Amino acid sequence: MTKAKAYLSPANPTPKIQKCRCGEPVLVGWNADMCAISVTLDVYPLTAAGEVCALRQGLSTYRIKNGRLKLRDQYTIPGHPPSHQNIVVRTHQCTLFVESAHRLSKLPSKPKVYESAVLPF
Ligand SMILES: [Zn+2]
Repeated sequence: MTKAKAYLSPANPTPKIQKCRCGEPVLVGWNADMCAISVTLDVYPLTAAGEVCALRQGLSTYRIKNGRLKLRDQYTIPGHPPSHQNIVVRTHQCTLFVESAHRLSKLPSKPKVYESAVLPF
């Protein structure tokens, strides 16, 4: 028995990772506010400088929260810069790739916590 492929639909609005015709991975989802507009986004979370660069290039940015995409605008951008708690991605455009300096770095790994009462030294 094969599992049915989950297609993007308003009934299933969770964004999906797909491959663009240019070969880059993209995130395809619905604009949660309007939900009738399909958006194609880069998969790389942006830094604050990356969001400014994207906006200057005329690309919209979206916040990903609880599996939904929300367009960022003049009301939601000020005071809420991109961070690990506020993941922001930009609209995908095949000829414009996200520079590595504008990609949000991974969080450093947490130090190991020893749960036993015996100290490790
Ligand atoms: Zn592309």
